[in-house]
Amino acid sequence: MIPKNCTRCGNLALVSISFLVSTVNRPERKQKCGKAVLLCDVCIREFLRVLRVVSPSAVYEHAREAYTQISCERDANKGHGVRFPGEKQPN
Ligand SMILES: [Zn+2]
Repeated sequence: MIPKNCTRCGNLALVSISFLVSTVNRPERKQKCGKAVLLCDVCIREFLRVLRVVSPSAVYEHAREAYTQISCERDANKGHGVRFPGEKQPN
């Protein structure tokens, strides 16, 4: 496995994001996925912070949920997941 670097800062990338655009309410669905952008943990958190401010809440929540699930799987052996600023501590 060849390490890949964060597109934004050059640190070791942990995830990639891409956007899938699909038509709706049309008889034939068209979809297009954009090119993946590689991000490190710091940069994906910054992306999510900005996304929370500028996007509909559903967009942010789905992106945050996806990253949290991936991070929890990655950190399963460490016994902790990912929490974002303002989130409650688990009980
Ligand atoms: Zn980065």
